[in-house]
Amino acid sequence: MSRQNWYPQANLARREMLRGGAALGAVGALSACTAGKVASAGPAPRRPYLTPMRVTPDQLIDMKCCIRPVRAAGPNLGTQMIGDTLVVHNYGHGGSGWSLSWGSAEVAVGKALSVLPSEIAVVGCGIIGLTTAVVAQRAGLKVTIYTRDVIQRTRSFRAHGSFTPDSRVALSAPAGAGFGDLWEQMTRLSWKGFRSMLGLPGDPVVFQDAYALSDAPPVKKHHDADPAIKGAWEAGGLPLQDSEWAHYMDRIKDLVPDPVMLPTAENPFPVAYTRRSSEMHFNFPSYAHHLLTEFYQRGGLMVMRDFNDPSQYGQLKEKVVINATGYAARDLWRDKTVFPVRGQTGWLVPQHDAPYSLRYKNASLMAKNDGIVVMNNPIDLGEMFGVGDSMELPDPAPILEVMKIVEPIMAGMKGIA
Ligand SMILES: Cc1cc2nc3c(=O)[nH]c(=O)nc-3n(C[C@H](O)[C@H](O)[C@H](O)COP(=O)(O)OP(=O)(O)OC[C@H]3O[C@@H](n4cnc5c(N)ncnc54)[C@H](O)[C@@H]3O)c2cc1C
Repeated sequence: MSRQNWYPQANLARREMLRGGAALGAVGALSACTAGKVASAGPAPRRPYLTPMRVTPDQLIDMKCCIRPVRAAGPNLGTQMIGDTLVVHNYGHGGSGWSLSWGSAEVAVGKALSVLPSEIAVVGCGIIGLTTAVVAQRAGLKVTIYTRDVIQRTRSFRAHGSFTPDSRVALSAPAGAGFGDLWEQMTRLSWKGFRSMLGLPGDPVVFQDAYALSDAPPVKKHHDADPAIKGAWEAGGLPLQDSEWAHYMDRIKDLVPDPVMLPTAENPFPVAYTRRSSEMHFNFPSYAHHLLTEFYQRGGLMVMRDFNDPSQYGQLKEKVVINATGYAARDLWRDKTVFPVRGQTGWLVPQHDAPYSLRYKNASLMAKNDGIVVMNNPIDLGEMFGVGDSMELPDPAPILEVMKIVEPIMAGMKGIA
């Protein structure tokens, strides 16, 4: 069965659920299952045909590790003067740098434009610096990027790369109420940016079905504080428990497609509960290619340079500089509010006949153009996993561990009913 046949059925279910009346009763009966809606009985149920992913250890072709640059109060988008040079900061996007890149760039470039420059410098060429440079060019500015590494060698290229705009982006208390508004503004602008890249050659941005599997009925995640844990981030600059992280996804419910619980007869996986959602992700090689091509076509210059001190920004010929140095800002700009959250990914041989994502227990698999990304995200630790850890050497053991967990899932998949 093709994917085209599958979607109308899901849409029908969504319309049924929205219709109210009898459907409302169904929602009430299912309120324990708050994490998704159940597709109603429509046409005869049919399972989608999904090719199982090959998850054996011999398929593992790469391991990557990097640190998320988290700031307790959210990304730094402030300004400061170094001599007669205006520096606009744009760093500290935690686990959301790809997702917020377009919106954050718009905010930073807006601040740079306030002094009416005709040319600017951008320091850094990760996803934040390169996107910022392109946004500045689109606003009519001449742009030079000064950087130690070009995007393919940056931490950005060692990420997971899905649309996760509130992943480890800030801690609720230090971010305060105001950051939520800025986050929403950046997220909505970014969404527009990604929409304009859908369908480009090489699929830099794609939507894909994602399946969340569980043996027990799924429940909505709560972030209640554990009273046994005393204190919070102020003491050592690091969060002490999951409940300290800020979450804002409820603000953009209107943008993101709803998840749907699959009825048993339509569930292709050998587990009792499967929830399907439609998720956006980024294919790094083609994404970087598109951005770099646009940057050079618009006359951008790239200068390889390593800065040791903020005073060197003041010596550049450009009198407006956007600082997009990511985690490195902690040392370069002595911003000790930036803290590391380590993460790593395993990469399996690309498998283009299995274009979906899957989460089961601690395992997360996502099919991308350049490989299937595997992560081990311990559910019990939530967003605390990797907090304070800046070790960037990969360790294959946790990746191999979750591949073992999903092997029987793949072996037990059912085809068309
Ligand atoms: C495991 C993992 C998974 C992730 N998954 C996602 C995800 O699914 N979705 C999402 O949105 N985000 C995700 N992220 C977060 C995202 O990767 C980061 O927020 C983002 O990469 C930060 O980009 P950046 O451009 O600020 O920093 P970087 O990529 O680190 O780029 C910094 C740039 O500054 C340059 N630079 C640094 N110091 C100097 C200096 N002294 N002189 C000159 N140049 C300098 C570097 O060379 C580089 O070009 C993930 C992160 C990790 C670790």
